[in-house]
Amino acid sequence: MMAPQRVTVLGATGSIGLSTLDVIARHPERYQVFALSGYSRLIELEALCHRHRPAYAVVPDADAARSLQARLRAAGLDTAVLVGEEGLCSIAAAPEVDCVMAAIVGAAGLRPTLAAVEAGKKVLLANKEALVMSGALFMQAVRRSGALLLPIDSEHNAIFQCLPGDYARGLEMVGVRRILLTASGGPFRETSLADLEHVTPEQACAHPNWSMGRKISVDSASMMNKGLEMIEACWLFDARPEQIEVVIHRQSVIHSLVDYVDGSVLAQLGNPDMRTPIAHALAWPQRIDSGVAPLDLFSLARLDFERPDEQRFPCLRLAREAASVGGGAPAALNAANEVAVAAFLQGRIGFTDIARMIESVLNAQPVQAVEALDAVFEVDRRARALASEWLASY
Ligand code: NAD
Ligand code: MG
Repeated sequence: MMAPQRVTVLGATGSIGLSTLDVIARHPERYQVFALSGYSRLIELEALCHRHRPAYAVVPDADAARSLQARLRAAGLDTAVLVGEEGLCSIAAAPEVDCVMAAIVGAAGLRPTLAAVEAGKKVLLANKEALVMSGALFMQAVRRSGALLLPIDSEHNAIFQCLPGDYARGLEMVGVRRILLTASGGPFRETSLADLEHVTPEQACAHPNWSMGRKISVDSASMMNKGLEMIEACWLFDARPEQIEVVIHRQSVIHSLVDYVDGSVLAQLGNPDMRTPIAHALAWPQRIDSGVAPLDLFSLARLDFERPDEQRFPCLRLAREAASVGGGAPAALNAANEVAVAAFLQGRIGFTDIARMIESVLNAQPVQAVEALDAVFEVDRRARALASEWLASY
C-alpha cells in the first residue's frame, strides 16, 4: 500500500472545501489532510481541525491566529496556525504536500493557487477566477513546473473526461470539432426581463440544482459563471472562444460534451453533486467512491436543451468579448464582476446593474497586455477602482 497523499485544502470552510473533506474522509488510507484554510466562519475551521488534525491551519489575521492557536493547543492539537496570504502560499507550496485543492473564491485565490502550481503540485482547480485573471501566465507556470492541473469545475471536469489523454496535442489534432459547455440557466431562466430588475439576493442564491457559495450562485444567476467558464475552458483545453458553444440544459445532469469530427458526441453525466468531479480529480486516473448517489435515468426521464438568450444574460456577451480582446480584459471583467456581485449581495445595486456596471468598467479601462503577475494585479486594482466610482455615482 502506498503512503497516503498529503492534501492542502485552500478554502476549506467553503462549499467546495467541505465537499472535498467529505470525500477525503471516506478514504483515510489514500488521503491525509496536511493543511486547511478559512477566511470567515473560523468556528467551522476549528471544528475541521478537530476532525482532520492538519499540521497547519491558515486564518486571515494575527488576532484570529492567536485565538485559534490557543484553543487548538488547549484541546491538545498540535496544528500550527499561520496568517494571511503568506500563510496560504506556504501551505500550498510546502515540500510535504502532494495535492492542493484550490477552492478559495475570487481573485484572493490567485497567489496561493499559483504558488501550488509553481511548486509543481497536483492542483485541483475550483478557483476559476485565478485562471481567468492570469490565463497565459498560469498555463505557462503549469508547463514550466510540470504541475498536474485537474479541473474541478463540473463542466471542465466533464470535458476533461470526454477528451482523449493526448488532447494537449491540440483539439484539431485529436479530432475535436467543438466543446459544448452546458449551463443550467440558473434561477432566472424564465423570469420576465421586467421582473429581473427587482430580484433579490435570496432569489439569486436559490439555485435550482446546485448548492454553492453565494458569489458563484449569483454568477450562475447572471450566467457570468458560464462566461468565466468559457474563458477557463479556452485556457485549460487550448481552445478558441468560437470552439466553445454554451448550451442551456436545465436538469444539470449532462455536465458538458465534446463533439468530434466523425459525428461522435461524448458526454459525462451524473447527479449534480461536486463530490463527483472532486473524487475524480483526487484519484485520477483511478476511480473512488464519492458518496454521490447513482444516477437514476428512469426517474430523470428527460433531458432538455436550449440556446442561451444573450439579451437576458448580457454577462455571457461581456465575457465572450473580454475573451476575444484578451490581455488584461478578462482580469478586468473578473474584478468588476466581483465588486458588482458584492454590491448586489449587500443590496446596494439591482441584479441587472451587475452587467451594466461591468460593461461600463470594461469600456473605461484601456486594453493592456499582462506579461507579469504585477500587471494582472494592476488591471485588477484599476477595474475595482472604476467599479467603485461607478457605485459611488449610482
Ligand atoms: P464559498 O464562498 O462557499 O467558499 C469560499 C472559500 O474561500 C471559503 O473557505 C472562504 O473562507 C475562503 N475565502 C473567501 N474569501 C477569501 C479571501 N479573501 N482570502 C482567503 N480565503 C477566502 O465558495 P465555493 O462555492 O466553495 O467556491 C469556491 C471556488 O470554487 C470559487 O472559485 C467557485 O467559482 C468555484 N466553484 C464552486 C462550485 C460549487 O459548486 N460551489 C462549482 C464550481 C466551481
Ligand atoms: Mg461550473
